[in-house]
Amino acid sequence: MSEPANDRRSRRRMWTSLSVRVRTALAVVVAGVLLAPAVPATAASPAGAPSAAGGSAVGAARSTLVSPCQLPTPATGWQHEGPTNYATWLPPSGTVRGIVLFVDFTNAAPVAGELAGRTSMFSAAPNVFTQASYGALNLQLTFDTAWRHILQPHGNFAGYKSSFTTQRSYVAAAVAAANAAIDFSSYQIVYVVPPKSATTFDISPAWVAAPGGGVTADGVELRHAVTFGQDVDYWGYKILNHETGHLFGLPDLYSYNNADSIHRAVGGWDLMGLISASAPDLFAWHKWKAGWLTDSQIDCRTTTGSASTVLTPLGAAGGTKAVVVHTGGNTAVVVENRQVSTLDVASGCFQAGVLVYRVTTAVFSGGAWPGGNVPPIGGPFPVEVVDRTPGLDVTTCSADEKALVNATLTTIGHTVTYGGVTVQLTNTLGNDREVSVTVV
Ligand SMILES: [Zn+2]
Repeated sequence: MSEPANDRRSRRRMWTSLSVRVRTALAVVVAGVLLAPAVPATAASPAGAPSAAGGSAVGAARSTLVSPCQLPTPATGWQHEGPTNYATWLPPSGTVRGIVLFVDFTNAAPVAGELAGRTSMFSAAPNVFTQASYGALNLQLTFDTAWRHILQPHGNFAGYKSSFTTQRSYVAAAVAAANAAIDFSSYQIVYVVPPKSATTFDISPAWVAAPGGGVTADGVELRHAVTFGQDVDYWGYKILNHETGHLFGLPDLYSYNNADSIHRAVGGWDLMGLISASAPDLFAWHKWKAGWLTDSQIDCRTTTGSASTVLTPLGAAGGTKAVVVHTGGNTAVVVENRQVSTLDVASGCFQAGVLVYRVTTAVFSGGAWPGGNVPPIGGPFPVEVVDRTPGLDVTTCSADEKALVNATLTTIGHTVTYGGVTVQLTNTLGNDREVSVTVV
């Protein structure tokens, strides 16, 4: 849908991070644009009343509204910032096992050392989730040890990045090629790595099938996969984390409008935006959505007034991680404390401080609208950082990050206001930050 076949974007802005679109047999192609089923029976969580049964179990992934600061779930098969429907997407908790397959083609063979090189690179990815989830998610990767042969030319899968069905046939071919050697009943995720010479595969879209639409092997239905492309060489191992983030239901935060400033919404502040960012941890909102933060770690505000909160750093376990102000039906303002963590790159392009952003479920992954329309230039996008210094770039940082590097409140007294919510940094206590949040 938001993925033009004639995408001419530069390598730097390569679409590595295609949104996952859940498809069923009902998906139709109209003028080259894939339309998601209107309301996939398996992909829509009710947007209704809080679920008493859900409670606030520690670290539990959940599909329904529980806290009054969560946002209503849109009825769509796309990823969004509401509660995740784990009937379709993969719960990001406990041990999640992925098998990394290496497949070649009748017209594309690997070079010596390619399998070992990819294995070495991707081995760094699980730790990102371990850190970001405070140990709640243990992604275990098993790397196949040989190239499996798909006895077709790679061009047979040319539609893999725009057609659910073609991408499914590619995943199925990879699974079939490896099935004699691999017991797929042990895995929830299939990662498919082609040789660099298979030029069909330029980008690395994730793939999610609704129940019944997956690939069956060894008695299990495989519904979650990532098909890697050559952009792996550009982004490095964290592209595995970004794409796996989609399997967990997280949306893209960059713009699907090629004509826009792609990373205008969140700059380098979240892995679902810019993969090569200086601050690639996931927003507190995403960690809460994923079940890695409990409701007790969220200071939920639903009424007017002013109150102070001490926020512990996002990158360290424990404490209050965010103030969330539910400002309207599908909108919230979030306040969090970003200090350099093990996931971050300490530099002038990471200005530690209090970060404020707006979240909405009015639009979907990449800012796409209901029905699949690409967003207008400027958004709205699922998350937008509130910039303390609008118009003032940090010009020494990358073009994608420079506008929002200095969005943070770094000095006592710094203040931003968005949508009737005023946030002021009132004290620093080691790495903790005290903020006053006033809602009018
Ligand atoms: Zn993406």
